[in-house]
Amino acid sequence: NLPSLVKRSFRRLVQQFGDTADGLRVLQWNVLSRVCGEATSSPYHIRVLQWNLLSQALGQMNDNFVCCPDAALEWRFRRYHIIEEIVEYCPDIVCLQEVDHFNFLKTVLGTQGYNGMFFPKPDSPCLYIKGNNGPDGCAIFFREEKFELLKTETRVLEVWRVQSNQVAVIMLLRVRETDQELCVATTHLKARNGALLSTLRNEQGKDLLDFVTAHSGGRPVIICGDFNAEPSEPVYVTLLGCQALRLGSAYASTGDGPEDALREPPYTTWKIREEGEVCHTIDYVFYSTDGLAVEAVLDFPTGEEIGEGRVPSFSYPSDHFSLVCDFRFKNASEVVS
Ligand code: NDP
Ligand code: CA
Repeated sequence: NLPSLVKRSFRRLVQQFGDTADGLRVLQWNVLSRVCGEATSSPYHIRVLQWNLLSQALGQMNDNFVCCPDAALEWRFRRYHIIEEIVEYCPDIVCLQEVDHFNFLKTVLGTQGYNGMFFPKPDSPCLYIKGNNGPDGCAIFFREEKFELLKTETRVLEVWRVQSNQVAVIMLLRVRETDQELCVATTHLKARNGALLSTLRNEQGKDLLDFVTAHSGGRPVIICGDFNAEPSEPVYVTLLGCQALRLGSAYASTGDGPEDALREPPYTTWKIREEGEVCHTIDYVFYSTDGLAVEAVLDFPTGEEIGEGRVPSFSYPSDHFSLVCDFRFKNASEVVS
């Protein structure tokens, strides 16, 4: 079996240094010195972190997580947990959804060597919440030391040629050391249950694939996102069936045996709302099987580690868990044409 990354925690650091400007600087220094030496520094490898980090406005005012203490959702604490969750794995590329504090992320991740871009949803539900911090949307960050940004593209996803309220972002990146190029995309598809919404997500998925195919130019592709669809939904089959991109799902392709929906993790989100417990797999990292190989994925915490109140909580700042995958660029002899 492929190795799993080991989950590490910096939670003590945050509690120790607290919520001051000086505290943040100390935290940054410690995080840098502790994780970067262990990360994949090879130009032939890429570590990707995919995460719906939970919009501050939606999480606090809209989601109604009945077991989460209000204090755990306060931005002045939660924002450091969000940063910790991202930097502790030292990813090369970060794909985020429900971002409604992009400027904060850009500033703090900027101090860690990342640059990024953001694209908001056209009619974000955040805008209807009192005290909101602007619309939520998708963002991609990349490590500037490793990559040169060649191009960005954004799209409001269409369903039967009509714009929807969901978006996608593309970045074309070049690995500085090798000149290897890569296309990274992220999206957050329409939420909620029902046959019509499942059809709508499938149409959004088709539009996303057309968008990525049009801009990837034959480069290896990584498509990360909150697809709001379990592996049994049509959009999952659509993504894996794309003839032009020949995608695999990173978490389903680790370990022995054939790659299929049954190998996806048992959950990527686990929360308790008034109507009950919601525990399912809806976030994925898809990748070009021709150009990339999966070398490791980060395990998810167990139910016991998560705790009975599930997430978000003081330990986990979002109702979704982060997915972290190590990819290797295949060399020419491995690439099947
Ligand atoms: P989506 O249906 O895609 O969902 C929006 C967000 O709600 C997602 O981030 C989703 O999180 C979250 N969500 C999913 N299920 C629940 C749930 N059971 N309870 C609480 N939150 C949930 O939104 P759209 O982009 O299509 O935007 C439509 C929304 O915008 C409407 O639902 C409406 O509330 C709001 N709106 C309000 C208006 C108004 O007040 N006048 C006008 C226009 C829009 P996740 O992806 O993690 O599941
Ligand atoms: Ca959400």
